[in-house]
Amino acid sequence: MKTRTAVVTAVVTALLAGGTGNAQSRLNVVTSTEDLASIARDVGGDRVSVTALARGYQDPHFVDPKPSFILAVNRADLYIAVGRDLEIGWLPPLVTSSRNAKIQPGSRGYLDASLNVRILEIPTGQITRAMGDVHPFGNPHYWLEPGNGRLMAQAIRNKLSELSPADNAYFAGRYDDFDRRLAAAEKRWDAAMAPYKGTPLVTYHRSWPNFMDRFGLQVIGYVEPKPGIPPSPAHTLQLIEEMKRGGVKLIVVEPYFSLKTPQAIASQVPGGKVLILAPSVGGVKEAADFIQLFDYNINLLAATLKQVTGK
Ligand SMILES: [Zn+2]
Repeated sequence: MKTRTAVVTAVVTALLAGGTGNAQSRLNVVTSTEDLASIARDVGGDRVSVTALARGYQDPHFVDPKPSFILAVNRADLYIAVGRDLEIGWLPPLVTSSRNAKIQPGSRGYLDASLNVRILEIPTGQITRAMGDVHPFGNPHYWLEPGNGRLMAQAIRNKLSELSPADNAYFAGRYDDFDRRLAAAEKRWDAAMAPYKGTPLVTYHRSWPNFMDRFGLQVIGYVEPKPGIPPSPAHTLQLIEEMKRGGVKLIVVEPYFSLKTPQAIASQVPGGKVLILAPSVGGVKEAADFIQLFDYNINLLAATLKQVTGK
């Protein structure tokens, strides 16, 4: 008994000390989402160990914190947040209760990935609840734009180099490789989407302004009346009328919303179609990293637009 207890104690002590061997020389990076984790792995390579908290198939605004989250955040050398209040409902208490001074907002080990990217829908004037539950500081779904992925990768490269200066050249090389692969992929995506420039569509939540703007599609309305506010009959009827008037057929839905209202709308609109796209890495198994996320969405969207538009 005594031996067994001693072994368990030793294992627990080792775990709390942050593991053994290689793990100790790696920077321990924790991110809010799988998108950030994917980019951090691309840039950090084998010098980082990366854990994402939210899964890609979850609504990133509303994540149930698990006990494992606190342990992960407690051990982090670097925390990377999406920012713009995306995680306001679940992250602040986790960071506060982590007892990890390194990753508190304002510390060197806390990176807000939204600070140097292109943010759309920044409200002007006073922010009120009438604007909806979420998105008070501009649209926080900015990672759905390849150019922003590049800017996020630059911010991560700079932060990793700051925390681990000896690996500066390694991170720079990894970033350059990511940048090259992303640029090659963008040519592919632009070619696939070129025939559908200007096509109007509807999305459930305001998750896609950066994505649609980048690829030249026009979002004319939302199933939600306001971000975070569930569909209402009056808004739904109005949306159906707008879609009919504009000949709009496609409704893009995030995987964590009910299909009931989107399908009801599609059934009332001539040629109406509902399409589920993945808003994050890990949202579907094919979207295993940042570039694959776009590969998956663009392939599916282009195929659907071909059907819907007949182009
Ligand atoms: Zn949102």
